[in-house]
Formats: sequence, C-alpha cells, structure tokens
Amino acid sequence: MNYRMNKNTDNNPGGNNEVHNETCRHYSQLVNYLDLGYHSNCYSAVRKAKSLGYPKADGCKVCSPECHTA
Ligand SMILES: [Zn+2]
Repeated sequence: MNYRMNKNTDNNPGGNNEVHNETCRHYSQLVNYLDLGYHSNCYSAVRKAKSLGYPKADGCKVCSPECHTA
C-alpha cells in the first residue's frame, strides 16, 4: 500500500507525525504531507519516515493500529 506521513504533528504531548495508508480516510485529506511511497506494511513505512528525519513518526491508530504507539 502507499503511505503518507502528516508533516503536521498531532495533539499528543510531544507531537507525533501520523503515518497513514491509502485506505485511510485521512490519507487523501492530508495537506502538508510526506509521500513515503509503497510499503508492504506500516512498520516499513514508519521506519522510512524516521530515516528521513522524522523521529516522531507513528502509525495512525485508525489505519495502522499495529504501528500506533503514542
Ligand atoms: Zn490513518
């Protein structure tokens, strides 16, 4: 699936960058996002986001709950 990371942080303490896949209702609504490309799972997508300089990348609790930690 294709993944995108929200460059705008969420409202959690510290602020996380949520990572969404294309099945998520948030995916197409992201305005300020980083395109992470195709990944077979969210772990890979979150890892890529972190490697690109976003250590607070975290899976969306709706579409990627297995990668949601905060
Ligand atoms: Zn999502």
